[in-house]
Amino acid sequence: MKNSVLGWFAVLSILMIGCNERPENQHRAGYALTFDDRYVEEWTKLRPLLKKYGAKATFYVTQFDSLSPKEVQLLHELTQDGHEIGAHGAAHIRVLDWLRGGGALDDFYKFEIEGELNVMRKAGFRPVTFAHVGGQQTWWTDRRLLRDYFKLLRDVSMTERHLPFITIRQPIFAIDDIYYQFDGSQKVHALLIDQYTNLTRSQLKDGLIRAKNTHSVLMLLGHRPLFTPSEEPYAFSVQLLEEFLQDGQRMGLKSYTMLELVTAK
Ligand SMILES: [Zn+2]
Repeated sequence: MKNSVLGWFAVLSILMIGCNERPENQHRAGYALTFDDRYVEEWTKLRPLLKKYGAKATFYVTQFDSLSPKEVQLLHELTQDGHEIGAHGAAHIRVLDWLRGGGALDDFYKFEIEGELNVMRKAGFRPVTFAHVGGQQTWWTDRRLLRDYFKLLRDVSMTERHLPFITIRQPIFAIDDIYYQFDGSQKVHALLIDQYTNLTRSQLKDGLIRAKNTHSVLMLLGHRPLFTPSEEPYAFSVQLLEEFLQDGQRMGLKSYTMLELVTAK
């Protein structure tokens, strides 16, 4: 009897020690997929692929009031799969262009931000993260966007930028701001995977390797999914996305929505 009590005590002690142990790094390395604009029907066709690899994505929707009831229903179906629906502006207005054109800042918040949030809320969505339009932002508009409306703002970075007389290239592992470090940051950048930047599987794999080695999350951004090859620059290859998802799975990486990055405990 005594031996059996001692045995149970030993087992209980081991279990309690196990419960008190905290992993060295609580957050698993991974990737976060984001998609912008209003390609709702095409995004919906990605559902089986995302499901196959256990990947959750964030869809940043703009011009929400122009969506058909069917498209709104499809967005609800995406949320049922665990995907996030974020905000991307009522009319897809670039904030700096708006200000340069003499637009009032208060009107920007009223029409572009609150206008979209109101329409989305009426349709049953509660967006809490926001994607800047056209990569335009200012520190003072960001301050109010974070204070009054959102938990996270996402911008864009590129490995290749085509300027009038020159193309600027950066290796994926050298772009620090596309890796989320779980440091509470609310202003982040995602790497553009559209064909405009000529990304390859091998480059994306380098990005996953950095994320794995640094316990961080590689953030990506695409617009329209291309299920068959085409030259369209602001669209991405679904085949490249699947190769990326395969590599992520082989490396044991976790998929995050953007809200999960800032709320990860
Ligand atoms: Zn956009």
